[in-house]
Amino acid sequence: MTPPPAKQPTALAPAQPAGERPADAVPPRLDSLPPLRVDGRMDRLRARLAGDGIDAAVITAATNVAWLTGFGGSNGTVVVTVDGAVLVTDSRYADQAPEQLEAAGCDAEVVIAGDPAPVGAERFGAASVVGLEATIAWGEQKRWAAATTAELAPMAEVVEELRAVKDPAELARIEAAAAIADEALEEIRPRLRAGVSEIEIQRGIDDAIRARGATGPAYDTIVASGPNSALPHARPTGRELAPGDLVIIDAGAVVEGYRSDMTRTFVVGEPSAETVDMIELVARAQAAGVAAVRPGAAAGAVDDACRSVIDEAGFGAAFIHGTGHGVGLDIHELPRVRSGATAILRPGHVLTVEPGVYVSGVGGVRVEDSVVVTASGCRALTRHPKDPRP
Ligand code: ZN
Ligand code: ZN
Repeated sequence: MTPPPAKQPTALAPAQPAGERPADAVPPRLDSLPPLRVDGRMDRLRARLAGDGIDAAVITAATNVAWLTGFGGSNGTVVVTVDGAVLVTDSRYADQAPEQLEAAGCDAEVVIAGDPAPVGAERFGAASVVGLEATIAWGEQKRWAAATTAELAPMAEVVEELRAVKDPAELARIEAAAAIADEALEEIRPRLRAGVSEIEIQRGIDDAIRARGATGPAYDTIVASGPNSALPHARPTGRELAPGDLVIIDAGAVVEGYRSDMTRTFVVGEPSAETVDMIELVARAQAAGVAAVRPGAAAGAVDDACRSVIDEAGFGAAFIHGTGHGVGLDIHELPRVRSGATAILRPGHVLTVEPGVYVSGVGGVRVEDSVVVTASGCRALTRHPKDPRP
């Protein structure tokens, strides 16, 4: 997936480094993934809140709730105070929530209630400043304001910064998801022939992802052929592939909530000279971007590395999106990887490097890998070959 439009860049909080693995190591198998544990995450959040002058926090974003507690339901609110935590959810999750929290090593109390605000307000105690996630809905915010006399302060990307750095169990799931998408693309490649429609290819990839044990695609799989490939977020259509087409395939899988993200560009039949140039250019830009990923580098330097290659070739105006994004429980998360991004890369960050050029009437080329920052550089999690011949 190409990155979303710009918001404010933020610095990233330090956290534990991730495990190192050789670049050619066999990807983790679904039946032998290490357990996901959330121990220590609540305390890391408390330390961060204390630094921000926040006494208690209300977390409502589903992926943040999942990361903090292990709860996988769609409706949960976590209230974190200096000495405790409570997960408020509804009666559908009366059994699931305590089980999931225990399995993940989370000692938060589970309370079943229709409205989390009065439950949370009771726990705030002497808190004078309560942080509410900035993404909280307006109506919900009003309920919290009515329930407490504490000052409510917006918290932007606090848990998101903490969870940008993945632990080994999280990495194993992203890597397993990436391996499944690699294989799904391998399975579908022989079908990239003139006369096959974009939608048929999309279905084939999605079926192959599910058949390998993933929950499903990580996002709506993109198959964009010929003129459609000039649109970075084209939706698959009934258009049939034709000789000479560029075909962009952007596909990822989900394993236990963790997502992978990869793009490859193929050519149907014989490529034109222009197409060959575009493919060669994007390959060079993408390699330059990956080479710039290392701990201590600013995320913006990765964008610069890709963009300068494309600029020098005179295609600067055809690279119409940012270079990448973090990926994990959400398909787009921190760190952002685009021009001017100041976040400092750390071991355990997982990010995409996905430059592309898009020429109206001709088509587009994008190549994307998900990589994990290691102690010395980075390691690709998506490993499907980059040869544009199907
Ligand atoms: Zn993608
Ligand atoms: Zn992406």
